[in-house]
Amino acid sequence: MAGPSGDRLIRVDMTHQTATVEDFPEDWKLLGGRALSARILVNECDPACDPLGPDNVLVMAPGVLSGTMAPTSGRISIGGKSPLTGGIKEANAGGNPGQDLMKLGYRALVVTGQPSDPDARYAVEVTKDGVAVVPADDCKGMWNYALIEHLGGKYAASASFISIGPAGEMRLAGASVACTDADQDRRPARHAARGGLGAVMGAKGLKYVAVDAEKLAGRRPADMKSFSTLCKGYSKDFRDSPKAKVFEFGTSSVVPVANMLNTFPYKNRTEGQSPDVETLDGKRIVESFETRGGGMHNCMTGCIVQCSNIVHDKDGNYKTSALEFETLTLLGANCAIASWEDVADLDRLCDEIGVDTIETGAAIAVYMDSGGMEFGDAEGAKRILKEIAEGTELGLAIGNGALSIGKKQKHHRIPVAKGQALPAWDPRPLKATGVTYCTSPMGGDHTAGLIVNPGLPPEQFAQASQESQVINAACDSSGFCQFLQPTLPEIAEFYSGLYGEEIGKERVADIGWECLQDEWKFNSGAGFTAADDDLPACIREEGVGPGGALKFDVAADVIAQAKNQRFGPSDTFWTTKATG
Ligand code: SF4
Repeated sequence: MAGPSGDRLIRVDMTHQTATVEDFPEDWKLLGGRALSARILVNECDPACDPLGPDNVLVMAPGVLSGTMAPTSGRISIGGKSPLTGGIKEANAGGNPGQDLMKLGYRALVVTGQPSDPDARYAVEVTKDGVAVVPADDCKGMWNYALIEHLGGKYAASASFISIGPAGEMRLAGASVACTDADQDRRPARHAARGGLGAVMGAKGLKYVAVDAEKLAGRRPADMKSFSTLCKGYSKDFRDSPKAKVFEFGTSSVVPVANMLNTFPYKNRTEGQSPDVETLDGKRIVESFETRGGGMHNCMTGCIVQCSNIVHDKDGNYKTSALEFETLTLLGANCAIASWEDVADLDRLCDEIGVDTIETGAAIAVYMDSGGMEFGDAEGAKRILKEIAEGTELGLAIGNGALSIGKKQKHHRIPVAKGQALPAWDPRPLKATGVTYCTSPMGGDHTAGLIVNPGLPPEQFAQASQESQVINAACDSSGFCQFLQPTLPEIAEFYSGLYGEEIGKERVADIGWECLQDEWKFNSGAGFTAADDDLPACIREEGVGPGGALKFDVAADVIAQAKNQRFGPSDTFWTTKATG
């Protein structure tokens, strides 16, 4: 038989705490990650449901290539109806659970229902012997790092974990889902962070998923020899190419470029550049490796990019990992917090409590801007994060995201799209990216379709955004990390090699487009209209850059084109790389 055989799908019913396994539909074999999650949600989840109720469906789906020897291909998508946006949501993460689920032959884990006791906690255990739902009340309220340490005494060293912190258990709309990384210490530092999917997991009473693939070999392609040749050749070409240099020191190294482009937001996006660019530059983190240790690593097995930094404190002890550009921007510059070390503390707290660093940074900045506290108050920001876990009124409002705290403070400047905080990449200098924020089913999300080209002519905004959304949706369905920067023809080549049949680049593009169609359909059912495809007044009316001249001024009919008509491929479509 061509390609991996015996693929299966896990169904977990949290109302009755049961798990069953069924065959994975053959005609879905090219659906993985985001596209698979979208298809399951469109088929099985009422888009009008309460995201925190029993009718929401939580999907955990590795990519099509996950668990194989394809480089950097083990991302796992978490999907469901978002308590933050009220629409469909997919957020993906590295770490090892995606690789391990696929090594066991599981294409997805679909969680439905809800326990009758809201205080009960459960876990799902996935091994080569089967799947079980077990009580986990002993883990209630645990922060992510303590939880993983606790689980380390209970499960084999080969297990990986998907978990939530207290924010997820409290069902906060900014809650993330953590995945353990590939290091021996299995740190819960890789987060499917956006859109509050941790709250969906918490509402289902699910504290963690343990996946133990032991020493199982990866998934077998149709022809091992030719697939192996393809993987080795691709890896060598990548290492020899300029692409390998882009994230050599992680995403934090783009800080100076972003600042130059007026897309390093300062003080709740009232300015596009930060006076603290030097102290927040990722170079400072790289310099710290020499005296403190830490360094770059791969967050999941098989990653050849190794963009993830490990950050140590002054005494050489581990502090956090993957201190990213987005985190340095939203929890740093946007809050006028000038020190990368303070941002590292905040990042660790977010990972511990289990909240999205982008949403939470934006929420704190809105709170500062509304007069709740001083801009630049790093200790105050740390206190607020602890208050999230304590469940104070302020902590809950921040943990529910930027829109939540903005409404509470009756503040006028709340930079969100479809209820989700805008990421670092600013839609005023990068207007095609702004079209993505308007039209993406995900709301304000740079990973949905980022175009870092401030000189792009306006007549190309809609097509550039649509094509980037298609490419990124296809990438997020493959299991490839966006930082590998694959093109659609490259993804097609890997699919062809895996299944031993010709799968064209056009088919892969269609998968990306059909994924978007599924997601837009879900959002229509959830009540979204064209009026929701816009950015707030503070982004349309308040400018950044010289003289405040850069505003988001893209007309509604141009925005609509990105969604309502499928463009024929541009000259650059097949060579454009996925990027986030
Ligand atoms: S490229 Fe970076 S984020 Fe992506 S899998 Fe590798 S280490 Fe993780």
